[in-house]
Amino acid sequence: MTEPHYLKGLNEPQREAVTTINGPLLIIAGAGSGKTKVLTTRIAHLMANGVDAFNILALTFTNKAAQEMKERVEKILGNNDARNLYIGTFHSVFARILRGEAHKLGYPANFTIYDTDDSRSVLKTVINELNLDDKHYKPNIVHNRISAAKNALVGPAEYATDYYIQQEDMRANRPAIAQIYAAYAARCFKNGAMDFDDLLLKMYELLKTHHDALHKYQTKFKYILIDEYQDTNPVQYQITKLLAAMHENICVVGDDAQSIYSFRGATIENILQFQKDYDDVKLVKLEQNYRSTDTIIKVANEVIKNNKGQIPKLLWTENATGEKIKLVRTMTDNDEGKFVADTIQEQKLRNHYENKDFAVLYRTNAQSRSFEESLRRMGIPYKIYGGLSFYQRKEIKDYIAYLRLIVNTKDEEALKRIINYPVRGIGKTSLEKAVIIANEQNTTLFEVLQSAAANGFKGATLEAMQNFVTMIRYFQTLMATNNAYDVAVQVGKHTNLVKELFNDKTTEGLARYENVQELLNSIKEWTEMPDNEDGEMVDKSLGSYLQQITLLTDADKDNDPDADSVKLMTIHAAKGLEFKCVFVGGIEETLFPNAMSINSREELEEERRLFYVAVTRAKEKLWLSYANARYRFGSLVQNEPSRFLEEMPDSLLDKTYAGGGARNNAGNGFNNGSAFARMQRGMGYSDVDAAEKKYGPPPAKKASSKPSYMPATPPPPKVVEHIPSANFEPSDPHDMEAGQTVEHQKFGFGKIVKIEGGAHNPIATIQFQHNGEKKIMLNYAKIRIV
Ligand code: ATP
Ligand code: MG
Repeated sequence: MTEPHYLKGLNEPQREAVTTINGPLLIIAGAGSGKTKVLTTRIAHLMANGVDAFNILALTFTNKAAQEMKERVEKILGNNDARNLYIGTFHSVFARILRGEAHKLGYPANFTIYDTDDSRSVLKTVINELNLDDKHYKPNIVHNRISAAKNALVGPAEYATDYYIQQEDMRANRPAIAQIYAAYAARCFKNGAMDFDDLLLKMYELLKTHHDALHKYQTKFKYILIDEYQDTNPVQYQITKLLAAMHENICVVGDDAQSIYSFRGATIENILQFQKDYDDVKLVKLEQNYRSTDTIIKVANEVIKNNKGQIPKLLWTENATGEKIKLVRTMTDNDEGKFVADTIQEQKLRNHYENKDFAVLYRTNAQSRSFEESLRRMGIPYKIYGGLSFYQRKEIKDYIAYLRLIVNTKDEEALKRIINYPVRGIGKTSLEKAVIIANEQNTTLFEVLQSAAANGFKGATLEAMQNFVTMIRYFQTLMATNNAYDVAVQVGKHTNLVKELFNDKTTEGLARYENVQELLNSIKEWTEMPDNEDGEMVDKSLGSYLQQITLLTDADKDNDPDADSVKLMTIHAAKGLEFKCVFVGGIEETLFPNAMSINSREELEEERRLFYVAVTRAKEKLWLSYANARYRFGSLVQNEPSRFLEEMPDSLLDKTYAGGGARNNAGNGFNNGSAFARMQRGMGYSDVDAAEKKYGPPPAKKASSKPSYMPATPPPPKVVEHIPSANFEPSDPHDMEAGQTVEHQKFGFGKIVKIEGGAHNPIATIQFQHNGEKKIMLNYAKIRIV
């Protein structure tokens, strides 16, 4: 029998792992040893041996990784059967299953998924309703506690009665968290919503309490594969154990040295436990690294061997020795940023690299700023993963809140967000009143608005509420027959959302308008994606769209993965990825290892594993940098180099100092004599010239792909500054009416064209003599009747 082509090139243990079809299989392996490759090939091998894709469940760490796996399996097999795989993150796969099963747990099938912001906002409401102080019971702190509890399978009742948990909360002087947890869980349920943690917890509950469901999925998932197993938490572990119990065909791959999520409840005990959970576990170790140079592997090994708790294994490579690791000291974080940008530019010229060959990694999100600034200044395209992403921007969240409310009118968070945006005269007081009524009647806020008259609302407020409800109902009828994009466009039109942003001609307003256009583009693209052929109903509805965007992980928010840009991300986000050239910044005591982690061996060892993950992302070149001082929390802080740097043997390092402080150039951060530094200082171009002659100029920047119907960015409007009259005293908004001449403190004299928005929040359109027409919110403006 001839060997299948996909086995060629695999080493012996890799081959064994791929071709072991039945029984529990544990693959423990070092970084870059082909774990993910083995998992992918194994899926292809199962399918090549007659296993139906419908019977395979593969769990990955990001949806992007799942997508890549699917594509590779398709490529190996030369068909598109991989479409039928159940493959994705724990959260996305379980959300998909729960859509069909949620009614068994009392949730509507169209339940909303709350992201972190939503959860915190619900928590804030609940905390206030319990008459607790949200300054002390900070929603993010409370949320972390609840999240940890859920991931450890501790429900509200158990939380309230667990002695140790209660002791901990007492010590933190937050004894009421148990109460908040219970109220929060009840509120989410009432709102028909699950938070991220619920997607796991409810899946577990489903399998535990509904034997028909357990049987169904146990039967279905004959083969289960899990990547990055070291980072699964107890609830994930329990779910997979339940699912695998019937067939016991479960294959997990992990590296204990890369376990970096214990703060989220992940525990490497899972790896150790695996061998006890099943009989006859086959253990495969992969120790040959195919990713990195020998020098990078040696450095990584030297550092990680300082950790006590680890499964012994050796990582080696046949790859070339490669260059020494560059250890770079800079004066400040800004110098560090400049150094990175300069070096990228130089490497592109000298060594033919492209932007996408570079990644800049850091311990905390806030560190991205100095790198961003320098890259921007040098005109190097870059992309940030994490941080404030597209979907966290206000205008996007507002727009999506409308879509969410249309799909699920119980979604109180969405409703509160947009009930008076754009302004429609439903003020804060009216909203608070409606919330109280909803609580009293144990009904939803939307229902209170729906029966606003019966609930005692009158006049303009009543009218505004009725109009609002009618509008949402109208969108719902649209939703019945239209796809997500068509509904979304109508929402933009009828709510005046798009127009309102379009009319705001400030630079920020324009950016917001463009973002909303970009959102509509992306919805359109999604609705036009090729149909799913896995036998399920083709679903391009608004509900289905919302589900997939809420589940995007940070790494998935990269809307153009092929774009040639430098990637910036935290080390956590870099897990599983590889790049030719890697910079790791901020390797300083208190930052990395983080100040919070230096008090216990466990935490310090986790930081060291994080460092190991960072170093092992690099294929060819690695720069490690640290600054003598950096701005943190608003002031300049002096730092010692990280202890991890001392753990690396000098013989593998090439130490340099890159700028800052005493040098007299204009601060490009690169004064170790490099040609590029000289070029930057305008002192000579010879080396760079030579490089350009040899390799040609760096590639031209790609033209922006902005759709043509977006307006060109106009210069920010100039305001003709006005010096207010000596007797300037703001007038009462109630006294103002169309036709009056008014004086605005900043925009000067003008005439009121009309007043809209109702008595609570009147908005005047005013034609100013020198500053054109503007909409002014009278409640906030410094304006007087002349
Ligand atoms: P990590 O621990 O970072 O998740 P990993 O163990 O999952 O890494 P992979 O990403 O699967 O490793 O593989 C690392 C690199 O090595 C990839 O570029 C992969 O294509 C390559 N590789 C793995 N096995 C082989 C092999 N047998 N021959 C050639 N290249 C290989
Ligand atoms: Mg991997």
